[in-house]
Amino acid sequence: MLHFIVKSIFKPAIFVKKLEMRIFKFGGASVKDFNSVINVGKILRLHEDDQLVVVVSAMGKTTNALEGIVEAFSKGNKDEIETLISALKDFHLEIIQGLGLNQNTSFLTEISAIFNQLSDKCCQPFGDYDFEYDQIISFGEVLSTKIINEYLQSENFKSTWVDARKLIRTNDRWREGRVDWEISENLIQAEINSVFENGNRIAVTQGFIGHEIGGKTTTLGREGSDFTAAIFAYCLNAEDVTIWKDVPGMLNADPKYFDNTVLLEKISFKEAIELAYFGASVIHPKTIQPLKRKTIPLHIKSFINPNEPGSIIQESLAFDDNIPSFIFKMNQTLISLTPRDFSFIVEENLARIFGYLNTEKIRVSLMQNSAVSFSFVVDHSKINLKKLVDFFQEDYLVKYNSNLELVTIRHYDEPTIDRLTVGKDVMLEQKSRHTARMVLKDLG
Ligand code: ASP
Ligand code: MG
Repeated sequence: MLHFIVKSIFKPAIFVKKLEMRIFKFGGASVKDFNSVINVGKILRLHEDDQLVVVVSAMGKTTNALEGIVEAFSKGNKDEIETLISALKDFHLEIIQGLGLNQNTSFLTEISAIFNQLSDKCCQPFGDYDFEYDQIISFGEVLSTKIINEYLQSENFKSTWVDARKLIRTNDRWREGRVDWEISENLIQAEINSVFENGNRIAVTQGFIGHEIGGKTTTLGREGSDFTAAIFAYCLNAEDVTIWKDVPGMLNADPKYFDNTVLLEKISFKEAIELAYFGASVIHPKTIQPLKRKTIPLHIKSFINPNEPGSIIQESLAFDDNIPSFIFKMNQTLISLTPRDFSFIVEENLARIFGYLNTEKIRVSLMQNSAVSFSFVVDHSKINLKKLVDFFQEDYLVKYNSNLELVTIRHYDEPTIDRLTVGKDVMLEQKSRHTARMVLKDLG
């Protein structure tokens, strides 16, 4: 008898493995057609022992297409709206068909209803641009997650659809909502814990979108789905986060510009924040902070070769200095402002300049000041240069120079700088112990 009791107490302990909660993020390129969605399913098969929160972006170039719809809506261009919505619908229906989900009439009705909502929305009066933008742009993630969840269920995954618009609380800064961590944490924990307690293994949810206090949809900024993955990880104290990409991991340069790129196998949170901030496009700059605060490691892995180790971003600084990294930002404009009264560039002038940049949501990629002038570099495609010049020119002499490249080298040395600046005019240069940054004009 005693023998039997001992056995039955110990037996379960051998077999029950603690489920680990992990966050996966799939971007637009990883769900751009039906074959890519099937590939997502294959990756998830490799992780059936985990509890997964799967954060997904809009499919392929859907967000850009929706931006076109917002634009047409703002101009009240009914025909164009209709054409664009119908193209977007065809694109999604093709994926649905490729996945064999078109037999499911109740699912097709659900998808049609979402497109009807989008069309109805575009028939209403157009309000504040940024507000309308968020209401419309969020359809992309809703559609992608509906389709992916439906596919996973059809493949017998224990998957459920979760509405991130109800879980991530932000302020009402449209297009760039700031997260309220406390409220989001409560909402996310309550919902996700109950999803997993109900026996699900996968929660499919949307990147990039949330809500403000009144319940209206907000977004976290373009490419914000990585950040969503980090928000879920932080709020759920997840084991780790994996961002699945079309590159093998975090590379020391963009393969678009460099042939011999090297994989950064293991780097610190600090190094990753620096690289992302300087423009390494593989991860969204805001992603690292919440992970660092809870020391949750971030994996960046290839969705093409999911068994390859990829890169890991973690606490230790020990591996950072080995390889120089290069970050290029093209199409930059250097603007310099000199007060007409020749007053010093101190707090008062800076407050005025930054006030403008903040209200216009202009991101500065580099700045520098001398006694009487303030220079800064911006992405040319993201600013309204004429508006900026009009605003400042009464009190400042405004000069600008376009078509520039901004190059950042982490862990630089002089020969590398010399090599990169051949045939180029260095318009501005900043060096710290680990980082060299140069604004270059091509002389060729
Ligand atoms: N779909 C959004 C975008 O394209 C968010 C994301 O992909 O991260 O910006
Ligand atoms: Mg994307």
